[in-house]
This record gives sequence, C-alpha cells and structure tokens, in this order.
Amino acid sequence: MIEGGCLCGGIRYQYDGEIEEISICHCSQCRKAQGSAFAAVSPVESARLRFIAGTELLKEFRATPDKARVFCANCGSPIYSSKDDLPQLKRLRLGTVDTPFVCDNAFHIFVDSKASWWDCNDRYPRFAERKT
Ligand SMILES: [Zn+2]
Ligand SMILES: [Zn+2]
Repeated sequence: MIEGGCLCGGIRYQYDGEIEEISICHCSQCRKAQGSAFAAVSPVESARLRFIAGTELLKEFRATPDKARVFCANCGSPIYSSKDDLPQLKRLRLGTVDTPFVCDNAFHIFVDSKASWWDCNDRYPRFAERKT
C-alpha cells in the first residue's frame, strides 16, 4: 500500500498497488506546473487510487483541453494528471508519496525541452520527446 498527500495535509490518498515506472518529464508544461526542472510521474490505476481526505480540495487546471492537471486548492501541491480519453489511468506526482519505495524502471522524456540549467546525465534512458 502506497500512501501520500499534499503539502498542507488536506489531501490524503492510498494506492493499492506498486509504483512500477518513474517517468521524469522535462517538458515546459511540467516544469511550469511543478516549479522545478522536471516532473517525476508514475502511471497508476484509477480504480486502485483512493482519496481518504480532501477530495473537496482537488482542483484541476487544463493547459491542454484533454488533460487535467489536478492539484490542492489550498497549498498548490500537484497530485496527478489524467487524460479524458484514458480515465482508467492517472499519472501520480511522485513527490507527494510518503511511503518509501524503490523502482529502477526510470527514464527521462522530453529531454529536448529540458531546462538549460539542469543536466540529466544519470544512467537512465533519455528520450527526445515521448518514450518510444
Ligand atoms: Zn494541500
Ligand atoms: Zn511533461
């Protein structure tokens, strides 16, 4: 069981599953949305993600019409994103996870858009845009 929540603690969730993939996204939208060099994201099954507190705080913003970026209306923590045509999946923001886990299946995407001030020369695969 994976547990997590937002910075103010208003939103709490449980995920009845494992983190099986870590996608480090360097695209300009993710950089803006996180206020950071990249977003660390994992796909999770919507049916196994349960909000145990703060569902009323979940607010969404759409930078693109078909993709909701969901964050805490109180503290601003990004929680997940979801695409309208893929409701069975959510893309969880891994910085909100409290339960320690390890996952070596990590990779960088949208490296062509990465911040000029950040190198990502670690051992994980890099993709210019989406994973191929
Ligand atoms: Zn919050
Ligand atoms: Zn991105």
